[in-house]
Amino acid sequence: MRPNPPEVDRVAASQAAVAARRARAEVKRAIVTGERTPLDVLHASADPANRAEFSLRVTEYITSIPNIGPTKLERILHDLAISPSKRLGGLGVHQRTSLEQFIDRWQKAKSIVQPSRLVVLAGPTAVGKGTVSTYIRENYPEVLLSVSATTRPPRPGEVEGVNYYFVDDDEFDRLIRDGELLEWATVHNAYRYGTPRGPIDAALAQGRSVLLEIDIQGARQVRAVMPQARLVFLLPPTWEELVRRLVGRGTESAEEQQRRLETAKVELAAQGEFDHAVVNGSVSQAAAEVVDLMQLRRA
Ligand code: 5GP
Repeated sequence: MRPNPPEVDRVAASQAAVAARRARAEVKRAIVTGERTPLDVLHASADPANRAEFSLRVTEYITSIPNIGPTKLERILHDLAISPSKRLGGLGVHQRTSLEQFIDRWQKAKSIVQPSRLVVLAGPTAVGKGTVSTYIRENYPEVLLSVSATTRPPRPGEVEGVNYYFVDDDEFDRLIRDGELLEWATVHNAYRYGTPRGPIDAALAQGRSVLLEIDIQGARQVRAVMPQARLVFLLPPTWEELVRRLVGRGTESAEEQQRRLETAKVELAAQGEFDHAVVNGSVSQAAAEVVDLMQLRRA
């Protein structure tokens, strides 16, 4: 029998084990949220210096990829001739290559998103939803950009009926009461915003594509009432860039900026609920990706 290790060693070992588990959980979380691609993690796992990736079980790795559950996992491992007890670092050369090819095919198949004529563009505050949707309004006239009603007062330069319908609380109450809103929400704990239903129904009936630029609570409501809607999450290139854009806009007080940043953190965590993520690096590129989702694309 081996002697028991001294107490200090056991404590250190169990602390190291906890840290290793945490690091692996972080890798899985990054795959689930889309922060890292499965291929990136697989490539990193070839190097023992990347301990979290190297020691990640193949089963945990594969099931962290969205839409792969236990049944698919079993079939995939069988097809690739990989034992469920394997860790990524322990894969043989052939197993690694076939897993890589499988992931590559899977991602390509996933990126062929079913188009929809109703697209909801949401994302954290200050990510540039307004800029992207304005660009679409100006460059893709075939797309109807829904104009929301809001109780917020107009900012300088905003035009009634173009940017928003600016209404008072009584009028907003009436719109809700009369069922004229497809969805509505109180945003940043401040003002109410809602999407008028009529123009959208009419445009869809005419075969036009419709874009809604709304917050995440609104996106969830649209999904519930119109399941055919495609939900797009606009992402900042980085968190720092998001903060820079919010502060740089200079239209909000420091207190309001802080409140919006808090909201943005919570909002970013919701991206997994969306059908598609678009990174807003260049406005024209992001706009093209959004519009692409409305038209039939060649597979
Ligand atoms: P802003 O006051 O900066 O124009 O907009 C604040 C937030 O309200 C943005 O996140 C915008 O997407 C959201 N928003 C604008 N219109 C609507 C709407 O009709 N419904 C919902 N739920 N959110 C909206």
